[in-house]
Amino acid sequence: MPERQAELATSLARLRTRIADACTAAGRDRADVTLVAVTKTYPVSDVLHLARLGVRDIGENRDQEAAPKAVAVAAEGESVRWHFVGQLQRNKCRSVVGYADLVHSVDSVRLAGALGRAAQRYREAPLDVLVQVSVDGDAERGGAVEAGEDDRQLDRVADEVAGSAALRLRGVMTVAPLDWTPERAFARLAEIADRLRAHHPDATLVSAGMSGDLEPAIAFGATHLRVGSALLGNRPTLR
Ligand SMILES: *Cc1c(COP(=O)(O)O)cnc(C)c1O
Repeated sequence: MPERQAELATSLARLRTRIADACTAAGRDRADVTLVAVTKTYPVSDVLHLARLGVRDIGENRDQEAAPKAVAVAAEGESVRWHFVGQLQRNKCRSVVGYADLVHSVDSVRLAGALGRAAQRYREAPLDVLVQVSVDGDAERGGAVEAGEDDRQLDRVADEVAGSAALRLRGVMTVAPLDWTPERAFARLAEIADRLRAHHPDATLVSAGMSGDLEPAIAFGATHLRVGSALLGNRPTLR
């Protein structure tokens, strides 16, 4: 086994133990939690190692990086599910709908509209989408907000996604605010997810929890963990 693959196997084993322990502590079924490996800044070879170790859900946050990686991984004959987890610009929608299996970060009516039109034109199967929520109501960092009447209002964003024949509203995502405890953030997200599900029964997915806060995310019902550094190592630059 190449050295890097052995290194990834070691950190993956450690991470899987953390996830299993957190599921046990929360009384949850391990099969209900999907690990998404966020490979931004790491090379295609790492995606291939992870796929061969059984991690086939891969997250990226920039189209400029994700699109060529998706091409390269496919060219190696490996099949993975691509998760787009970063801020998405409307002019990248056409590219993203070409490879993404789940977009975690739809946070405005205008973006949902653009993504729906791109998916309609350039995809065969509908695209699964999560609405990214800003749990503290601060829309600066990205995320739809509960209050207000504008383009970023959560119910409006959800309705725009649900109203598109080319998109499927599958749930919610958040990044915990730095000045909140993860427990508070993920409890808030769980409430929002419940409320959304009352109107949209297929919106069952909850994307929450990263390297530092996956245990509380699991305790509060996360179905998708987005883990970068705990698996791949510390990134040279924070992004
Ligand atoms: C980079 C990134 C992650 C992974 O963060 P780590 O702390 O490295 O686990 C998760 N979610 C998003 C949106 C990211 O951009």
